[in-house]
Amino acid sequence: MEQPTNRFLPLAAPGIANLKPYIPGKPVSELERELGIADSVKLASNENPLGCSERAQEAVRAGLAEVARYPDGGGFALRNALAGKHNVDPACITLGNGSNDVLDMIARVFLAPGRESLFSQHAFAVYPISSQAVGATLRIAPARDYGHDLEAMMNLVGETTGVVWIANPNNPTGTWLDGGELEGFVAGLPERVIVVVDEAYTEYVDEPGYPDASRWLDRYPNLIVTRTFSKAYGLASLRVGYGLSHPDVADLLNRVRQPFNVNSMALAAAGAALGDQAFIERSVAVNRDGMAQLTAGFERLGLDYIPSVGNFVTIDLGRPVGPVDQALLREGCIARPVANYGLPNHLRVTVGLAEENRRFLQALERVLA
Ligand SMILES: *Cc1c(COP(=O)(O)O)cnc(C)c1O
Repeated sequence: MEQPTNRFLPLAAPGIANLKPYIPGKPVSELERELGIADSVKLASNENPLGCSERAQEAVRAGLAEVARYPDGGGFALRNALAGKHNVDPACITLGNGSNDVLDMIARVFLAPGRESLFSQHAFAVYPISSQAVGATLRIAPARDYGHDLEAMMNLVGETTGVVWIANPNNPTGTWLDGGELEGFVAGLPERVIVVVDEAYTEYVDEPGYPDASRWLDRYPNLIVTRTFSKAYGLASLRVGYGLSHPDVADLLNRVRQPFNVNSMALAAAGAALGDQAFIERSVAVNRDGMAQLTAGFERLGLDYIPSVGNFVTIDLGRPVGPVDQALLREGCIARPVANYGLPNHLRVTVGLAEENRRFLQALERVLA
């Protein structure tokens, strides 16, 4: 669709004019308002269908009493808890208003006009947005079987490469890289190139060889690993994520960080959620069963999908998804078209509760019939 011309476009900083905004999943409230229904199924934003830990909810309720106060801008308690979890110094941690905030800080610190931002075709949409916003040049390596082709990426590393972004697993493809392969890539980069390993879905991955890149921080001072509380921890609305890096990198990120970027309820909830490993285990089990349920359903319907290790799976409808997506919405089911990721025939579906998955599969079957 052609955008109407914006009269202030000539005033925008370089990079902003061509920026395409992030496309979020349709909110439940919006669809229900449009359809006049009250029981839609949202499988569009990789949220945790179980909600969040009871302990995190408790922390939010307790935090209500203090909302008139600014939060702890340094996030002392949460950074200490995370330092313990990852066995690093608290100075290695940068807290973000969601991990997207950390990704944005990385772009602001390490990219600029004349520097290149390198990532794979079908990679997470925030990498180009944050990179373009600071005027960097995008370099996009072709994907291999929908996943990252590290050799193709390495071939694009040059004198002006500022940041390389890798999501492991990647959204929206659900593809993943094994530890030997990924560490070999990181080791092969010159130290002047920052490499980001985005582990937003790490809790869900149950594959031998899948790495925890935060264990490599001692070896690679140019490595930044990002994590989030938005997915398995079920705190998407509160916006908490973090970066793990060499303290000198964290120092630079913290220079551009907004002073109170993580609010007090988010800080408290994240800290409490870290203490509830049983909730994560339940979430992972529900996801495993739901993934099996969905993929069995797709196979029954004769649909191809990209095998995924995350809490979502992307199906290939073999034709533009627009009409199918619209028909699913009329059935009360919100999934996520991913044409903006260069996948016009694919639809990403978040793994829901058994009943949600069942309803989605039924709606899909009706819509495709
Ligand atoms: C969801 C997601 C994030 C996390 O975003 P938040 O800002 O932490 O909510 C980061 N990276 C990828 C690849 C994601 O899919």
